[in-house]
Amino acid sequence: STPGRPRSRDDKIVVTVRLRPLSRREQFAKDHIAWDCVDDHRILCKPEHATQPPSFAFDKVFGPACLTETVYEEGVKNVVLSALMGINATVFAYGQTSSGKTYTMRGITEKAVNDIYNHIMDTPERGFTIKISGLEIYNENVRDLLNSESGRSLKLLDDPEKGTVVEKLVEETAKDDKHLRHLISICEAQRQVGETALNDKSSRSHQIIRLTIQSTLRENSDCVRSFVATLNFVDLAGSERAAQTHADGNRLREGCHINLSLMTLTSVIRKLSVGKRSGHIPYRDSKLTRILQHSLGGNARTAIICTLSPALSHLEQSRNTLLFATRAK
Ligand code: ADP
Ligand code: MG
Repeated sequence: STPGRPRSRDDKIVVTVRLRPLSRREQFAKDHIAWDCVDDHRILCKPEHATQPPSFAFDKVFGPACLTETVYEEGVKNVVLSALMGINATVFAYGQTSSGKTYTMRGITEKAVNDIYNHIMDTPERGFTIKISGLEIYNENVRDLLNSESGRSLKLLDDPEKGTVVEKLVEETAKDDKHLRHLISICEAQRQVGETALNDKSSRSHQIIRLTIQSTLRENSDCVRSFVATLNFVDLAGSERAAQTHADGNRLREGCHINLSLMTLTSVIRKLSVGKRSGHIPYRDSKLTRILQHSLGGNARTAIICTLSPALSHLEQSRNTLLFATRAK
């Protein structure tokens, strides 16, 4: 591998790392900071805690003082712009529980909505339609976040034209940016339902906010070109739920169950990043990867933001996240 090599803008998978500040609770517990952002591309484990390798390099590393706006501008914006041009795209937040996935994803989605509507204003020659659906995957059950009535798990169907579709998933058309923000907030509130009863639910569930962006060149033109793309914002289950394997091939014994969707996703991303055209990509092995199949790989664009706690007490999990990030790019 060639550490430190920044990737070009056209890369299909862009991997960035965001190190959050030490939380109040961590400060109170006299936890220490284990990582340093050396520059925009490298993160280094402090020598006294040195792990192997001691430093990791990525397309971009965002330090604790970075605003979500910067993370969006430098790590996600191009992917959103691609979707406006008709290219399917997915943005992921990957990291252990409490590393900042939800914090980052909410901010990113907000910035993306601004950008989408700015683009619509700046492109009067095209007519746009934005649709939204929201879903949650928990224990391989798919739940509609825009329909609180739907109790049972939604089925996945194979449509000959559209590929995998989620049966009966509600899709709403956004009237404007305010309406879209409102629909997103419904999904976020709906995801929290049941979290106190199942206290590890937020660490085990995946949330997908899916926008369908359609645009058509307005009349007075001989070539009426239409674009349609799916743009997914995915707040993943905590990465401590991914299967971790020892050098000897045995799975680490852990208190938590392995999350099939997360494990399959990491395997799909690893295979895509190797860039083999042939070879089997195991999309069909989990609900998450089936649902995302058409927005992952092929011509689609992917942004993965790996979130990291700086705390020494999380050193091992942070290292696992960085190893995943290294393999993903
Ligand atoms: P996760 O979704 O990965 O479990 P959260 O997004 O809920 O983690 O973040 C855990 C806590 O850390 C929250 O209180 C959140 O507000 C805070 N936090 C996360 N990232 C940042 C950041 N970059 N700056 C400041 N606070 C953050
Ligand atoms: Mg979360």
